Amino acid sequence: MRQSPFLIGLLALSVALNVYLLATRHGAPPPDTRDTVVAGEAPSAPEEDAGEAADATPPKPPASANSDWRVFKATVEHSIARAFEQLGAEGPAVAAVYARLFVWDLDAQQDVLKGDRIEVVWRPTADANYDVAVARYVSGKLGKTLDAYKYLAPDDTWPSWWRADGTEVPFRLVDGPLDDYEQVTSLLKDRPTHAGMDFKTPVGTEVTAPRRGKVVQTDWNTTFNGKSVELEYEDGVHAKFLHLDATKVKPGQAVKAGQVIGLTGNSGRSTAPHLHYQLERGSTILDPLEYHGSSRRKLPAAALEPFKAEVQRLRTLLPAE
Ligand SMILES: [Zn+2]
Repeated sequence: MRQSPFLIGLLALSVALNVYLLATRHGAPPPDTRDTVVAGEAPSAPEEDAGEAADATPPKPPASANSDWRVFKATVEHSIARAFEQLGAEGPAVAAVYARLFVWDLDAQQDVLKGDRIEVVWRPTADANYDVAVARYVSGKLGKTLDAYKYLAPDDTWPSWWRADGTEVPFRLVDGPLDDYEQVTSLLKDRPTHAGMDFKTPVGTEVTAPRRGKVVQTDWNTTFNGKSVELEYEDGVHAKFLHLDATKVKPGQAVKAGQVIGLTGNSGRSTAPHLHYQLERGSTILDPLEYHGSSRRKLPAAALEPFKAEVQRLRTLLPAE
């Protein structure tokens, strides 16, 4: 896994997107005094937490937006982020959604070369986000094309993105706090002040303790964190679960792995329903992907035929040069 170096590259996208979001945000209350929020909070308290860069008070699609898929192709000159500038105001948000699909395989610093090709089929969504049907990245450095096709696997609740060979593009935690979720919408260092991993999921989704431990505190800094739970695992690592709709445990209580500790929500400084999951060992923030381990799913054999048919259909959305 090489997600860490990529994150630095995605930073530029995130910063650009946040600037854009700030510029387009209307009527949001002024932020609380940071000093008040940070006091007593972990070394790097999460900022206003959107669940997803492109999800955060997302830019409204233009009035002319419709549900038609749009095709964007570009050749990289300097960076992926700059290539997407050709899309204008929507560029940063679409770039963030696109880049997140390749964070798992592509080191945005080491692997992005002038002359690489970007291809994406995208559209604004009804909830003012951006959706991607097909994304391809032709990498000179890797000597191959990375691809991602949106597909709803049998028994899944939400579509995901899959390689043409039926391997899922995003990794999943080996033992995470959610059985199921819509998407990982932010990784550890997506944003300079963001210290956790975000999972987009509907309000009310059960959050379980990934490891055995005890409850350190609940509902602290609620203006910022909303309803929240902090656990200490048996190895001394502290885990924070923020923006909950409800907490199901009390401080001092012992919890077993798999025990429900709360329900996901959109509380505190959060602009979209999601879970913020943050790990700390002392003053060090840990990456959940490294701490828990991660793996990629494969489509079951029975799903491969329908998936390949869908890949063929999706490819027709991306016209040849
Ligand atoms: Zn977060």
